[in-house]
Amino acid sequence: MAAKIIDGKATAQRIRAEIATATERLAAEFGVQPTLAAILVGDDPASAIYVRRKGEHTQEVGMRSLSFKLPSEISETELLDLIDRLNGDAGVHGILVQLPLPAHIDRGRVLSGIDPNKDVDGFHIVNAGKLAVGAPAIVPCTPLGCMLLLSEQLGNLEGLHAVVVGCSTIVGRPMAELLLQARCTVSIAHIHTRDLPDIVAQADILVVAAGAPGLVRGSWIKQGAVVIDVGINRILCPETGKARIVGDVRFNEAAPVASAITPVPGGVGPMTIACLLKNTLAAAELACRDRLGSSGTRAA
Ligand code: NAD
Repeated sequence: MAAKIIDGKATAQRIRAEIATATERLAAEFGVQPTLAAILVGDDPASAIYVRRKGEHTQEVGMRSLSFKLPSEISETELLDLIDRLNGDAGVHGILVQLPLPAHIDRGRVLSGIDPNKDVDGFHIVNAGKLAVGAPAIVPCTPLGCMLLLSEQLGNLEGLHAVVVGCSTIVGRPMAELLLQARCTVSIAHIHTRDLPDIVAQADILVVAAGAPGLVRGSWIKQGAVVIDVGINRILCPETGKARIVGDVRFNEAAPVASAITPVPGGVGPMTIACLLKNTLAAAELACRDRLGSSGTRAA
């Protein structure tokens, strides 16, 4: 039987509609408009597209979007100064620094400069640590989106064997933490893993975030597994000579074996931005609660 195609676009649209309603409510109750500040350093075209798209989606749900475009030769100190100013601005609820950064800037120092309560990408070491010990944290957007798709698909994940291919701090590791919190048995594979096909074959849930086009073959996948393909790879199509986007899983081989599978594009990608908005809303709600806690009254 052919797999169900998991429509991340539709789910993301539904989540954005819910966020729009909650954003309106926050404005009515607290007079607060959730605000996301995006910082782009340099002129990488792909990064510029991502930042623009995030800004458009932010405004579509009724939030305020601030965008800071900085030249690639900006110093780390100047970047940290901007982050400091945004940290101290009560009107800014979420801050994201678009990655990658130019080589002369230390990514770890920059990400650690963001106030953990405004770290809507969930990359701050405090949020990573909280996630690792199972404490409430801002969770990185892509794994959060994958979890929402999995829960929608499977409901309770308890006891299922989840295999995560890729262990980056942005996708693979937080994904594995979330699956563990959902009481899965979790295996993590990476570039040095031996016998990848044998490990993949054990998966009831397979999440692939390797950045390796077509890495996972259909013959590796257990019958009935749910497959989440995070990979976004631009390849040149030999037939047309045009570039196209493919995932890390060979979709045509995997679809007849899996019970459900995300397409690329249209699977995980749209969920990532929806979850960024979700995190921004949560950060704004937290700021309102803190304000309410400290003043005891609501804003007019
Ligand atoms: P990364 O390069 O930081 O990490 C890749 C991981 O995959 C590493 O842990 C590496 O060990 C592992 N890996 C690489 N090749 C492998 C192989 N042949 N066998 C087994 N493991 C292998 O990448 P990342 O930032 O985690 O992103 C992974 C992919 O997900 C990329 O294609 C990226 O574009 C995509 N991505 C998509 C979204 C989205 O919104 N859909 C968001 C973030 C990343």
